[in-house]
Amino acid sequence: MKEKARGNRPNAGRKADGRKRKEKDREEREKEFAIERKAKEIEGWVPKTELGRKVRANEINSLDEAFDNGYRIMESQVVDSLVKDLDEKLVNFKKTAKVRRSGRMFSFRSTVIVGDRHSYIGVGIAKDKERFPSIRKATKKAKLNLIRVRKGCGSWECGCGTEHSVPFMVEGKCGSVRVKLMPAPRGTGLVIGDNAKDVFRFVGITDVWSETKGATDTTLNFVLAAIDALRQTTSMRLGEGSERHVRHKKGEFAEETGEKRGKREKNKKENEAEKAEEESAVEMPKEE
Ligand SMILES: [Zn+2]
Repeated sequence: MKEKARGNRPNAGRKADGRKRKEKDREEREKEFAIERKAKEIEGWVPKTELGRKVRANEINSLDEAFDNGYRIMESQVVDSLVKDLDEKLVNFKKTAKVRRSGRMFSFRSTVIVGDRHSYIGVGIAKDKERFPSIRKATKKAKLNLIRVRKGCGSWECGCGTEHSVPFMVEGKCGSVRVKLMPAPRGTGLVIGDNAKDVFRFVGITDVWSETKGATDTTLNFVLAAIDALRQTTSMRLGEGSERHVRHKKGEFAEETGEKRGKREKNKKENEAEKAEEESAVEMPKEE
């Protein structure tokens, strides 16, 4: 049937291919432009906020520092200069219409997520009359909406202590969608709908189990619900004794284990010393 249809219109298939190629070329060009634009923007950037000035003067060199000191990111260039290889992805794109007396006014709504593949993720939604400007706007917004995600190994089956999953069970929602994330042992993979997988890749979570309710085929709401769940990992208050699941930085964990090892070695040495003393005490009378 397909061949017959094509036979009737000999150029139909070729034309469609050409259109696809054009679209692809355009996207690639847009990407190149974006990289150039980024470099130019950072070069000619005049910071307007305190955080911006500090980043420009190299007083703040990581997002962690900015977040720890309670700064709010209000310039997208801050993120651009702190994270050089930020991942960006258009997760949802829609043509929307507003009905006026003069007819329908069309515009495009883009949803973009950005992430540093370690612990930061942001989502931005923006509208514009044109396609690429709307993506650009959304990307900028996503950079301003960055949130920090706490990772860990909350799985009792694993207990490896590295940051490959969520530290504990969290729940997020958006619209009718409910997403429940559960810690999974190493090697499980991302057990969640494909539409939300990028959210986890962008923060470097490799294993997670999930339970979802509602209309998860609504990509936008699904993604937003997953991000909402990740937000709970840092907004949740932690009780004492839960620290072992929730190492946030790599250094912290290494330090802790180092300390523990130090203690163990110390105890070992003390025990050996005691033993030696005992032995010498036993041996001494023998010699006499
Ligand atoms: Zn683990």
